[in-house]
Amino acid sequence: MSVPTNNKLPTNGVRRARRMRYERTISPEEAALGKILILKPYWNRLPAPGSKVLVAMGGETMRARVQRVRCKCVGPQRPHYHYYFVLPRRVTLKSWQRVKLQISEV
Ligand SMILES: [Zn+2]
Repeated sequence: MSVPTNNKLPTNGVRRARRMRYERTISPEEAALGKILILKPYWNRLPAPGSKVLVAMGGETMRARVQRVRCKCVGPQRPHYHYYFVLPRRVTLKSWQRVKLQISEV
């Protein structure tokens, strides 16, 4: 009897990308916080919140943390999450800067 090779649940249903490209224009808030917002379609391509990933950006590769934050920015009746890449403190993000990231697993 053969073992199915298309079983999609070995990682709690989370699909992980070994490598992922991500482009974004940094908002003033992200620049102030030193972290990069991750849009929802990308969430399930990343390891669990709290995990470290490698981020290649502007010729430098650094470790970053995937952070999930509870938020009520659209009102207390609609709580939801925001996800971020939290970069090392030495990295400076500028408002309206266009960043191109290559994400990979640590
Ligand atoms: Zn929000």
